[in-house]
Amino acid sequence: MEKHFHCTACGKCCSGWLPLTLDDALTHAGRFPLAMILTTVRQSARAYKVTARNGTVLHLSKKKRVAVQISPTSYIPPAFSCPELTDDGGCAIHAHKPVRCRAMPFSAYRDESDQGPLLNPRDGWLCDTSSAAPPVYRDKQVLERQDFDLEARRLKEQASILRPYADALISAAPNVAVALESASKKAQGGTVVLNFTTILPRLKDVDTASFAKQQLPVLRAFAKKTAGDKKLADYHQYYAQNIKGLERF
Ligand code: SF4
Ligand code: SF4
Repeated sequence: MEKHFHCTACGKCCSGWLPLTLDDALTHAGRFPLAMILTTVRQSARAYKVTARNGTVLHLSKKKRVAVQISPTSYIPPAFSCPELTDDGGCAIHAHKPVRCRAMPFSAYRDESDQGPLLNPRDGWLCDTSSAAPPVYRDKQVLERQDFDLEARRLKEQASILRPYADALISAAPNVAVALESASKKAQGGTVVLNFTTILPRLKDVDTASFAKQQLPVLRAFAKKTAGDKKLADYHQYYAQNIKGLERF
């Protein structure tokens, strides 16, 4: 079984939340408003094992557990385009774009054998999946695999930082465990959004003052864009809270 895919660079998938590696989050702190997002994945889901391996596992009861994906994320409302999307649908940072964007349409957050559904474009996406497009996936294997492998490697490497970070939060902050338990009740996985500043103490080589200097103008710009819109109140509150937190640095 072979699947074909060609990105026509329509830019339609460049909106809303963008999961980033830790490296990408820090590199692009002057571009994206950052958050740490925990996403629950049920035991019955195909992505359970890979999520547990790269994230952590929360024991809900003796037998029941849930895997938790831990993602530094460009935290942008779904209706907002990525700030790096150009007017003609291109990427302003194409040569340096995040690993997540480079690996598209594949995703190392899922098993290699489970990539097929990602090759079905969502409504409005102008991806070419006709037989005229190059073959990209055969017998459940990614053919041109450099970026997929790179993303898989990065997720594995950063697990040694992200897992203890999430485990410590879950045991020390009861509200995080309660929020995850509640998120786990959603069939497609629920999410818990945490301030990006919560990961900073675990990043030994990061100059927090310099990080804050890059991130603050981005948060201020997004706080301004979301001000006064009731539907975006949660986002606005998040940006405002993080501005206060980062101003301390
Ligand atoms: S960084 Fe570039 S490729 Fe990635 S979402 Fe933004 S515009 Fe799209
Ligand atoms: S929606 Fe498809 S064609 Fe458009 S930019 Fe994204 S991957 Fe490329």
